[in-house]
Amino acid sequence: MGSLSGKTIVLDPGHNEHNADHVREISRQVDVVTEHKECDTTGTATDSGYTEAAFNTDVAGRLADLLRARGATVVLTRGPDTPWGPCITERAAIGNRAHADAAISIHADGGPSDGRGFDVTQPGLVAGHTDAIIEPSRRLARCVRDAFAQGTDMPTSTYLGADGIDTRTDLGGLNLSLVPKVLIETGNMRNATDAARLTQDTWRQSAAVALSDGITCFAGAE
Ligand code: ZN
Repeated sequence: MGSLSGKTIVLDPGHNEHNADHVREISRQVDVVTEHKECDTTGTATDSGYTEAAFNTDVAGRLADLLRARGATVVLTRGPDTPWGPCITERAAIGNRAHADAAISIHADGGPSDGRGFDVTQPGLVAGHTDAIIEPSRRLARCVRDAFAQGTDMPTSTYLGADGIDTRTDLGGLNLSLVPKVLIETGNMRNATDAARLTQDTWRQSAAVALSDGITCFAGAE
């Protein structure tokens, strides 16, 4: 496995555990080029009440440790002291300001209860905005999809994308990125089988290892 020495990786844990207490702030409309939408959202949760925001924080923390051990400089879009959000526009801006070699948004989905699996979303063409990141983001998406399929027991999504990859032009975090970026829905919190995995420490560690392998596949030196 290659080294990430000299590389900057931006990790974007979706939502924020405190968003529910800041409805007014996160409801502000922001411009994501193709539409206007809420600055941030609260995310989903399992039936047992494990929130997606807490899951995203946990996996991003594990992943940050793994990437730093491989020599990367890691920038997180939010930390324990971030009061809410940040807005999806700011999440993209953080990656841009860091001149990241790769950026990844970490989520777990609130999909149909009978739907399973993980899905990697890559940016679609938004002319004048995503042109330059389309091709490298596709390579990043394939690296992450392959590593996640190899390194975890989560199947590719039965209800999103195709073969674990989806393309979207409605996401501010991708539309406004100037650096290669993808978003992963690591599983479906509303499905009991997926939720049993997402709520396990050992599973989240395997997910973080798989994500570090995927990022290293894209950004690492041989
Ligand atoms: Zn989410």
